[in-house]
Amino acid sequence: MSKILVSACPLGDPVRYDGQARHLDSAILDELRAAGRVVPFCPECAGGLGVPRPAAEIRGGDGDAVLDGRARVVTEAGADVTAAFVAGARAALALCREHDIRVAVLTESSPSCGSRRVYDGSFTRRALAGAGVTAALLRRQDIAVYNPFEIAAARRQLFRA
Ligand code: SF4
Repeated sequence: MSKILVSACPLGDPVRYDGQARHLDSAILDELRAAGRVVPFCPECAGGLGVPRPAAEIRGGDGDAVLDGRARVVTEAGADVTAAFVAGARAALALCREHDIRVAVLTESSPSCGSRRVYDGSFTRRALAGAGVTAALLRRQDIAVYNPFEIAAARRQLFRA
């Protein structure tokens, strides 16, 4: 039975940097969970970061640039947390391989989970087009990454996979 990786925070886990969850009210998600197809995951927690933790943004590009060593993930105070973000991305990929997961639904705009946009490192809520570190790494391995607004498309992909 094909499974889907889902960011832990929209599933109600209070793992965000501010200690909150971001519950996603979705009949499709409920259906997939009831069927035992959802594998929840928080890359930043898996990378060793605590809850709560300082907000972080990618400075110098997007998740692909981080993976290529051309950008860093930093907190507003300037701490470099790149290693934790890359470790979390690798843990996500390992989990996908363990469960033969080919589809993911990840929270938008996060420096880990964002799949279409990420904040630009200025901590002014300005965003640029691009993926977070985990989304970028999964896509490099041909795992389809969607955001929560695209969950219907993710479900179609899951049943095709
Ligand atoms: Fe949610 Fe992803 Fe941030 Fe974890 S890393 S809190 S799963 S958006």
